[in-house]
Amino acid sequence: MNSPKGRFPVWLKRRLGSGETFVHTQKTLDKLGLETICTNANCPNRGDCWSRGTATVLILGNLCTRNCRFCSVGHGKPLPPDPTEPQRVADLAQEMNLRYLVITSVDRDDLPDGGAEHFRQVVLTCRNRIPQIELELLVPDFRDCQDRAIEILSDARPFVFGHNVETAPQLYSKARPGGDYQRSLALLKKAKDRWPQTQTKSALMLGLGETEDQIRQVLQDLRSVGCDRIAIGQYLKPDKNCLDVEEFITPEKFDQWADQARRFGFTWVMASPFTRSSYRAEEKTL
Ligand code: SF4
Repeated sequence: MNSPKGRFPVWLKRRLGSGETFVHTQKTLDKLGLETICTNANCPNRGDCWSRGTATVLILGNLCTRNCRFCSVGHGKPLPPDPTEPQRVADLAQEMNLRYLVITSVDRDDLPDGGAEHFRQVVLTCRNRIPQIELELLVPDFRDCQDRAIEILSDARPFVFGHNVETAPQLYSKARPGGDYQRSLALLKKAKDRWPQTQTKSALMLGLGETEDQIRQVLQDLRSVGCDRIAIGQYLKPDKNCLDVEEFITPEKFDQWADQARRFGFTWVMASPFTRSSYRAEEKTL
């Protein structure tokens, strides 16, 4: 156990962003009026990712209808989907010459389709502009409309369909009160059943107080619904209103989780303190 009290462990030092590519990424996003999860979630990898000319676009606004305790994205009553957003995301992909783009959204429980049609429009518009682009969607759990959302997305089937379970089910009431672990697993299963050729992906944050047995069980549960890809990272409190870190997991332990995940059959595995679901998502890795 590594105590979270006091200073951050040495392996959690991260450089801030700078340089020409970082500035270009920032200016392009600003010019197009696009939100990113990188800034809204205070992601520690922004310097790294933006300096490599990549970012994760946050569509459907920056106000979430849920209030997860690990997340710094604002919550409240969101605006209707912006019909200009698909073109602006495609502009970003074109201007930054992207071959891989991760697109995510806030939870939109206010919309009857959870925002699926807007995701579809973004995918089709990007693909129309850059036919060879690979798109990874990181979607909400589509609470009451999973079947409808999968149906809507059928002609916009992404390269990777991601939905994060985030933590062990035993911690949902504390960390993810609006979520439901079985519902999240069900969405991943429905996507895999419907599109066997599409890679499905999920992510876990460690350090919220989960046990190793609980993590192992989550990995097995994900494999049982056919999940292909897993990203495992360290939870870091993104703002003062979020949950405290209970434990800092060592890089060596992350390596062990990566080995474990591969043994369970995941075909794409990333596990390290700074791993996030969209971190280096374009890399071909095991
Ligand atoms: S890991 Fe994802 S959210 Fe974080 S900066 Fe990179 S692209 Fe953005």
